[in-house]
Amino acid sequence: MEMLLLYITNGREAKRGLEHARGQVATAIGAETKEIYFTACGSESDNLALKGVAYANRQKGNHIITTKIEHPAILQTCQTLEKQGYEVTYLNVDEQGMISLQELEKAIKPTTILISVMFANNEIGTTQPIEGIGKIAKKHGILFHTDSVQAVGNVAIDVQKLQIDLLSMSAHKFYGPKGVGALYVREGVAFDRIQDGGHQEKNKRAGTENVAGIVGLGKAIELATQNLIPYCQKLEELKKQYIRQIKEKLPEAKLNGHPEKRLPGNVNFSFPHIDGQELLLALDRRGICASTGSACSSGSLNPSHVLLAIGLPREYAEGALRVSIGEENTKEDITFLVDSLVEIITQMKKLN
Ligand code: PLP
Repeated sequence: MEMLLLYITNGREAKRGLEHARGQVATAIGAETKEIYFTACGSESDNLALKGVAYANRQKGNHIITTKIEHPAILQTCQTLEKQGYEVTYLNVDEQGMISLQELEKAIKPTTILISVMFANNEIGTTQPIEGIGKIAKKHGILFHTDSVQAVGNVAIDVQKLQIDLLSMSAHKFYGPKGVGALYVREGVAFDRIQDGGHQEKNKRAGTENVAGIVGLGKAIELATQNLIPYCQKLEELKKQYIRQIKEKLPEAKLNGHPEKRLPGNVNFSFPHIDGQELLLALDRRGICASTGSACSSGSLNPSHVLLAIGLPREYAEGALRVSIGEENTKEDITFLVDSLVEIITQMKKLN
């Protein structure tokens, strides 16, 4: 705490705080300190990665490959780039949310400058074959960016082994403060800054750094990496308990996402013919926070782009419920959640 106060109140100490945090981030992902750039969030890191690489490599080509299930921070950035003359291929995923490496390789053109595939999906939890993507990118001399906002703190990441050139993260996803993120960019990778102003972050990201947030990010990633194995084991056990109990008690439920290759704390079940929004409200009244996979617009539920991409029928998409299990959850919480779901869904079926 004293150290943090020093870092944020004294100019020279602030610089020390920034560099210490940069080292902590680098160590956590197997990078070098000079390869870490601080930003305000995961969305900014994604924007900087895609636009930065696209602008700096325009002479080499204008083609980018991504997937249909990326976060809007990637999808909307790609749409902006398309308006600026770039060409984007959006890869399909299978019904478990997985891309095909063969399709990825087939999509490569002489003009391809960047592949951007998320490490893990925020809705259905599926983790992609990152090492395989890294190999393909390297073989073809193409840069590889991965949005790892959901993966950092949940999955072991080594940018050397996985051959990742750029990686986005956001502190609050690994119990750090909100409003701070980081981007790893392999040394030697050309990328332009996208924000005009001062010369901070080696002239790649203008604007005074959020020192307190960055120091918090550094500590959070250090703790997350140290505790990764027991943390993941705990979440895996709770996840298995939840999946087992739901399958026993609500056998019509369908697990969305890959059965094994998924984030340790993410479970997304579809309860057919159940209104996800109503379910969410009923859970909220019992103090349980979850989210649906659909957005309500003009009285009807629109399935998210992710649920559409995995081809979920409408009656399943409307009843999708994503649960994120975290550090403070217990076996009792899971039993309470399952019992609540059984009671609410039984009641909803009676009223239908
Ligand atoms: N990418 C993914 C996969 C996410 O899940 C999120 C946020 O949930 C983001 C990007 C955006 O991160 P931030 O909210 O820090 O801008």
